[in-house]
Amino acid sequence: RATGATPSGGAHPGSLAHNYHPLPVTVATGEGAWVTDVDGRRYLDLLAGYSALNFGHRHPALIDAATEQLGRVTLTSRAFDHDLLHPFADRLTQLVGPLVQDGGPGAVPMMVPMNTGAEAVETAIKIARKWGYEVKGVPAGRASIVVGHGNFHGRTTTIVSFSDDPDARDGYDPFTPGFRLVPYGDAQAVADAIDETTVAVLMEPVQGESGVVVPPDDYWPALRRVCDERGVLLVADEIQSGLGRTGTTLACELWDVKPDLVTLGKALGGGVVPVSAVVGSSDVLGVLTPGTHGSTFGGNPLACAVGLAVVGLLETGEHQARARDLGTHLHARLARLVDEGLLTGVRGVGLWAGIDLDPARGTGRDLCEALLARGVLAKDTHGSTIRLAPPLVIDRPDLDLGMAALRDALTQL
Ligand code: PLP
Repeated sequence: RATGATPSGGAHPGSLAHNYHPLPVTVATGEGAWVTDVDGRRYLDLLAGYSALNFGHRHPALIDAATEQLGRVTLTSRAFDHDLLHPFADRLTQLVGPLVQDGGPGAVPMMVPMNTGAEAVETAIKIARKWGYEVKGVPAGRASIVVGHGNFHGRTTTIVSFSDDPDARDGYDPFTPGFRLVPYGDAQAVADAIDETTVAVLMEPVQGESGVVVPPDDYWPALRRVCDERGVLLVADEIQSGLGRTGTTLACELWDVKPDLVTLGKALGGGVVPVSAVVGSSDVLGVLTPGTHGSTFGGNPLACAVGLAVVGLLETGEHQARARDLGTHLHARLARLVDEGLLTGVRGVGLWAGIDLDPARGTGRDLCEALLARGVLAKDTHGSTIRLAPPLVIDRPDLDLGMAALRDALTQL
């Protein structure tokens, strides 16, 4: 029988399911862009919890907010309101509301709080379907949603139903019907897939898990036009791309596009607690009525306390600006590695990059292990691609340290 290997290399009895293949490191503490392992060795974190740690490990404002809230109340369930629920909803919609499509006269921006990213995506799917039946007039039971090849939106049964990654799907059927897969980055393919049953187009503005794939600049504006013309909701899954990572609050801002629904997660909980949300106009979110959707922990006091503090960090624009400035620097350094022949490709925007290695020289895993040996944490996505998503609080000397380690690792693979 298989046994797990402890991060420090030894074997243990394997009480943990093997649904991950972590790098051999056991983290004990973290601060800012750095973590320390159980043996006291420090590592620069260039993964940042898949962008959940945009503000770094244990950001003081987030830890203060959580600590203060732990001394008051942590859960009410949505059977009762608590004193941070509406403030969080108000502040998040003040931040993100202007970035989503205006619902017209009388409509206001709204949010629905959930916990994980997958739950936010499931929520957006449910809202889009209900809107399709109740507002658009789609025939009962026929709602369809257009999605992109190479997508990653989470791990629930419905979400893996429209994944094209065999690892994510195989063995988990029967699948949820109602999704149409089209090539990512091709707006004409989306237009061709839309018919009278289509309620939404659901896409990542930049595909994170696929290796930080940035679509052509005219893609999102074209999606917006197609959705407007055909009466279809445009749903942007900003769970990984949103909240500062690309240098803007939402990645959709890069192309001046306002989606109808936005899913947020990961960094919304500051790496402290799981917090996710769907934001959109009341003319769409209004299809949710009491008893039709919910979550025991969604919008809990601890989540709202941390979420409010996260919104506070984003309101200043400081982290978005850091992602832009440091991102320019990161991409210049990575371009040099391509020029030197050490990388075969680099993609990305802001403080976010997918880098490709010549498969003949090693896998993404090989490179991540070489980085680990040099005190840098990163993770492969697929094959010979790894993703770099440093915390937005990283400083330039530390980023340079990470880039020097990457160069050294690449030269010695
Ligand atoms: N959507 C996107 C774009 C993601 O990148 C992820 C996670 O990587 C998810 C959804 C799922 O989030 P969670 O793991 O919190 O369910």
